[in-house]
This record gives sequence, C-alpha cells and structure tokens, in this order.
Amino acid sequence: SERPLLLEVENLSVAYGKIEALSGVSLRVRQGEIVTVIGPNGAGKSTLLGALMGALPARDGRITLAGRVQGALQVEARAEQGLALVPETRALFASMTVEDNLRLGAYRFRGEGAARHAQALDEVYALFPRLQERRRQEAATLSGGERQMLALGRALMGRPQLLMLDEPSLGLAPLIVRDIFRIIVQLRAQGVSILLVEQNARAALHVADHAYVLELGRVAMEGPAAALAHDPRVIEAYLGAQ
Ligand code: ATP
Repeated sequence: SERPLLLEVENLSVAYGKIEALSGVSLRVRQGEIVTVIGPNGAGKSTLLGALMGALPARDGRITLAGRVQGALQVEARAEQGLALVPETRALFASMTVEDNLRLGAYRFRGEGAARHAQALDEVYALFPRLQERRRQEAATLSGGERQMLALGRALMGRPQLLMLDEPSLGLAPLIVRDIFRIIVQLRAQGVSILLVEQNARAALHVADHAYVLELGRVAMEGPAAALAHDPRVIEAYLGAQ
C-alpha cells in the first residue's frame, strides 16, 4: 500500500571544482509525503536542492521525477514539469507588489486564460489571508514571516508536484515558525508533496513522514521521521541541545 514514487534520486554527486559537496546521495519522495533532509551547516543540503532544480550540474547520478529522467534538463524545463524551489534567500522581487510577485509564480500557465490565474491567486490568498491584506504592498516592506509566506505562495501559484523548501524557518520568530510548519502540513493534506530542508530538526522531524540525515555530503542515516526522532544518535547530534 505504499504511495507511488514521485522523486527518485540515485547516487547523486555534485562538486564545486575539486570540492565534492554531494557524494553518492540517494533518496526518494513518494506522492503526498513530506520528506525532510536535516544536517549541519555545510552538509550539502542547499546543494542538493540546487541540483534537483537543475541550477547546479550533477557530476554523477540520476534524478527521476514522476518517471521522467531529468538528465540535462534546465531549471525552466524542470519547473514546467512541476518542480518548485523556495530558496533560502526567498528570491522575491523587492520593488514589486505582493500580488505581482505571486503572478510571476504562475508563469508556467502563461498560455492559459486569466481565470486560471485568478483561481490560483484565490487559493493562495485562502492559505495566506495576510498576503491578500497586503497585496498592493511592495515585497521589500514585508516582515520576514510575510516574505516566507510570499515565497511559498509564489511557488504554489505554479501548482507544483513537488515543492522543495530550503530552510523555511530560517530567521523567523518561534510563533511564525509554527505558522509556517502548520501550512506545510496543510499543503500535504491538499496533496502537495514536499521536500523540506531544515536545520530546525525538531520541527522538521515532527511534521515529516520520512527523513534523511545529510553529513559531509553523504546520507548518514535515513528512516521514518518518527523513528529518527527517537534515535539516540539523532537526539545527541540534532535534538539534544534544543
Ligand atoms: P547551510 O545549512 O549552511 O546552508 P548546506 O547543508 O545547505 O549548509 P551547502 O550550502 O549545500 O550546505 O554547501 C555544501 C558544501 O559546498 C559546503 O562545504 C560549501 O562550502 C560548499 N559550497 C557551496 N556553494 C559553493 C560554491 N558556490 N562554491 C564552492 N563551494 C561551495
């Protein structure tokens, strides 16, 4: 009764010049799951997401999304297939309004009429009423939490099959972090599959179905998130001090 496989990463290696940032990483995301990748600074988490999105070339390995090998496909082609990445920097257009930032996220539906865009906007505003209140405001004037909501909302405008989030809780106050994780869980309930990179291991393991621990560019441990949350090595290295 396992869910269908959505993303399969086999033996992925990525290097920056001579420095190998990822070495033989394999992982899977099934449809409707939250899969988290935790690990210390510099473990290669952002590199993994960059390579999956096609922004960084793989030195070796294979990435398959919904049965399609991604090979040399570039970022745009992967986005067209339903991959979306919310980078750690959020990458918003600071001098554009909230709503215009959101509209950019629907780029892959550019050929489809205004009704499609309006519906996507309505869905995002239903999830983030705060963004609707601020829709005419410049992105630059948003709070940190609102920016993360906007970055998430913009990714959702493209109706991704797989939403990849790079440290969505970074720099946010605890109450806002709770909001963001609540929304991540809500998205899963709506059928969105999520690959979540986090340094907040406690929160990530709490919401995820499956988890991978990345250390020095390799998968050091993996398993059901609840099992990893109770593993003495994980507790010692990632949960103990929190
Ligand atoms: P953090 O949580 O601190 O962002 P991370 O797990 O996301 O860490 P990466 O940013 O993927 O880790 O970095 C993995 C390794 O690759 C690190 O050793 C880093 O210094 C190196 N690295 C990342 N980007 C580059 C780059 N553009 N050029 C050279 N080395 C890089």
